[in-house]
Amino acid sequence: MLGQMQDQPLLISSMLEHAERYHPDVDIVSHTVEGTVHRTNWRDLGARSRRLAAWLVRNGVGQGSMVGTLAWNTHRHLELYFAVMGLGAVLHTINPRLSPEHLSFIINDAEDSMLFYDANFAPLVAQLKDGLPTVQRFCALNADDYESILAATPEDPLFRWPKFDERSASSLCYTSGTTGNPKGVLYSHRSTVLHSMMVGMPDLMNASANSSLLLVVPLFHVNAWGLPYVAAMTGAKLVLPGPHLDGNSIYQMMKNERVTFAAGVPTVWQMLFQHIDAKGLDPRADLCLRTAVAGGSAAPRAMIERFDREFGAFLLHAWGMTEMSPLGVVCQLLPKHANLPAEQRYDIQMKQGRAVYGVQLRIVDEDGAILPHDGVARGRLMVSGPWIVDRYFKGAGGDILDADGFFDTGDVATIDADGYLTLVDRSKDVIKSGGEWISSIDLENTAVSHPGIALAAVIGVAHAKWQERPLMLCVKKPGASVTREDMLAFLSSRVAKWWLPDEVLFVDTLPMTATGKIYKLGLRQQYKDALLSA
Ligand code: AMP
Repeated sequence: MLGQMQDQPLLISSMLEHAERYHPDVDIVSHTVEGTVHRTNWRDLGARSRRLAAWLVRNGVGQGSMVGTLAWNTHRHLELYFAVMGLGAVLHTINPRLSPEHLSFIINDAEDSMLFYDANFAPLVAQLKDGLPTVQRFCALNADDYESILAATPEDPLFRWPKFDERSASSLCYTSGTTGNPKGVLYSHRSTVLHSMMVGMPDLMNASANSSLLLVVPLFHVNAWGLPYVAAMTGAKLVLPGPHLDGNSIYQMMKNERVTFAAGVPTVWQMLFQHIDAKGLDPRADLCLRTAVAGGSAAPRAMIERFDREFGAFLLHAWGMTEMSPLGVVCQLLPKHANLPAEQRYDIQMKQGRAVYGVQLRIVDEDGAILPHDGVARGRLMVSGPWIVDRYFKGAGGDILDADGFFDTGDVATIDADGYLTLVDRSKDVIKSGGEWISSIDLENTAVSHPGIALAAVIGVAHAKWQERPLMLCVKKPGASVTREDMLAFLSSRVAKWWLPDEVLFVDTLPMTATGKIYKLGLRQQYKDALLSA
């Protein structure tokens, strides 16, 4: 028998309507590209989104239209979120750190009909423009262009957000495409609303009207992990940093806006630490941060410890991917961990976490056989769930699900009896030494626990006898003097002997991908022959 509840589509516009009605005066603090701090709230943001939507409709945008954005985290970008998606059009958020070739590729692949861009990207847009035949209108997010459009579009009291099937596409984000062309992942209203409902939950990101959320994670990357929607649902204050992502700016925002919760990739937290060290600051005295979420790459133990000891904040480790909207697992502690000594708590916090309701996880061996959740068996991580990709945009890459409907993440993991997942490595990054696997993540985490090391990357490099052996590249902290021998001695008391890197090199910087991960593919190419004479 069918249930008899009201059949209402889960639409993104419903989150904005809720925010306008129940949290109209809650602050949205936007650090603009122009360098100003703009304070707005859900009442104004809602009104401006409706005016923008009305203008978009007049200019041919409707259900299924593709609208691109090349923009930082500002109130204007957020208005585009709600205006475009509210209409049933698709917001294609574009990562400005991609190469010009990839940018052209994805804008053409998405067939964007409009492109909104932050004024500081004007030279980039000018460079790309002639190669973007589908884009009929370019609009700079500044006073001349964007604000004039809004000024010329008065609010229509009769305007209503349309109702449509919740399975309709809402936004599009491309994978970072370190090999080959990026592939598009098309989210739906349903997947977005369901994912957002989970993200705010107490055992996930624990957002509420008492939170002040700093979104360092970009609106252009996987809907900023769903946090803008969480703010709309809960009435949490939103702090948007614009392009100001350096340690000093982030610290000031945390201080001035009484930020309780901040989300970003580990690289951003490293920059914050460097600023604190350089200026001798006392975060515990200045700030009221309770939670820092780190995802996108592994959070090292030293980072977890610093947030605990110096900020009195909990580093919440999370794992996910563009293909998963992005959340898969989050690392909160269980009641039985409450009285553990700090060192043992850090051990748990280094794991990526336990499955979010709605996400099913499996680890499988090379033949696809399901492996036990015993914390030991390592296998390819497979996932399924209502906010996990079914196929890429336009079918790129063909069929991507296995016979049971699971998506292969390309990651290698263990899962323990409590359900905590530990990411061993990306399958492309794991080092295959004489038939055994060495985790580059473990070696990197160990290296950065050395007090003189800021950043480390470990790559598998071709080796005559062992097929591959680890090569470690380290960036020293300013003023630190660490030698190759120091590093090897440090590592040898902490990792198995056969894991010890064959070489340790010191470099000034490490190359990063557009999403803030170490660009290991590039490093492997650069150092491919480094050990062949060994
Ligand atoms: P992206 O789609 O760019 O968000 O990248 C997703 C990939 O980043 C995952 O498949 C992992 O390899 C990696 N990743 C994400 N979160 C973590 C984490 N907490 N620890 C280690 N790797 C991570």
